[in-house]
Amino acid sequence: MSFKTTAHVESPQVTNLDMLREIDWRSLPWKAELQNNIKSLEELQQYIDVPQQEAEQLAKVIEQHPMNIPRDYLSLVDGNNPDDPIRKLCIPQAEELVVAGSMGQTTTDPYGDDKHDMGNGILHKYGYTALVVSTEYCSMYCRHCFRKRIVGLKNDKTVENFVAAAEYIAKHPEITNVVISGGDALMLPTSVLTPMLEALQDIPHINYVRIGSRAPVVNPTRLFDDELIELMERFNQHKALYLPTHFNHPAEITPLAEEALARVRAAGVSVQNQAVLLKGINDDSDVLVELMNKLVRAGVNPYYLYQCMPVSRVRHHFQISLKRGVDLVDTARRQLDGYAKRFRYIMGHDIGKIEICGRIEDKLILKQIHARSGEEHLASRMLVYKLNDTAGWLDGLEQVSL
Ligand code: SF4
Repeated sequence: MSFKTTAHVESPQVTNLDMLREIDWRSLPWKAELQNNIKSLEELQQYIDVPQQEAEQLAKVIEQHPMNIPRDYLSLVDGNNPDDPIRKLCIPQAEELVVAGSMGQTTTDPYGDDKHDMGNGILHKYGYTALVVSTEYCSMYCRHCFRKRIVGLKNDKTVENFVAAAEYIAKHPEITNVVISGGDALMLPTSVLTPMLEALQDIPHINYVRIGSRAPVVNPTRLFDDELIELMERFNQHKALYLPTHFNHPAEITPLAEEALARVRAAGVSVQNQAVLLKGINDDSDVLVELMNKLVRAGVNPYYLYQCMPVSRVRHHFQISLKRGVDLVDTARRQLDGYAKRFRYIMGHDIGKIEICGRIEDKLILKQIHARSGEEHLASRMLVYKLNDTAGWLDGLEQVSL
């Protein structure tokens, strides 16, 4: 690795957005800087004007789902625009108090994670994939998170269990890949990630390992840690290492994020992006085109674009209808080159992953691409539903024949 980080300096204390934008984040140690995250309304009000009535509602929201915003991410917010997409991704909104709401019923576990929890920190939802919940902490608590029920709550369970997790994986030869996820797996210190990766590197039936992290987006300086980059490089000599990440808006792909991505790619790691289609954030074909083009330019593969799940306190204000979604994606795809349009528009459903292929007049054409363990016969089936103007999930559509 030829990259070297800048010498660390004292973290500057600043009190407005303009001052935040002057900080050289590269020079700050990532872990110490996270101590300066914005967690309370009082801290937020130093930077953003929050009217009193709104502040009272936000206080109630924060009781349900904590606020946690790294200062470099906050510096991207346009403080004068209440509709700024970056603001909506990180700052709570009163709409989070609505549990179900206009888009329909909600759940805290839309992806059926709890049913597939093996009790050792492993979610074994598909025969070939083991997902290890390595931590429940994240650099930022994203307002649209589908794991809101666990993220940010004191419930760590897996770090100390990782030996048992690795034993489980070694005994299951049908597992071809492992996802170290969370929360955000790169919240773990490099010294903890090292034995985790070492426990996996010699299991013969594992083809590759993924480390799921939003660090390139919300905490890019995590990737300026030379020890982490060297660990990635070393592991790559045993197994292919992938980094699934989560950029939702082109404004998140900053020069700092691009530099962080370049460091990861130089370690031989392939970066895949999993965005979520979100009302008021990226539900615009021009925004999607810009996002996908900026991703491929930064060497990131656009992998999935998720339909927003029916998550409590998320669905009401972030989900758009499937009819709008499919039209937006088609409009965007017509303007994108082959690499930029590789992403699949996906529903992460309780029954497995379903690709939203397109529509023929008022018929929505879907294809199941993954089915849960024991239901493999359902994978790769085609499904047809009658579209309507409002449904944002399968429960609002009628299944029909072609
Ligand atoms: S980083 Fe991922 S898991 Fe953590 S809050 Fe954001 S979306 Fe949820």
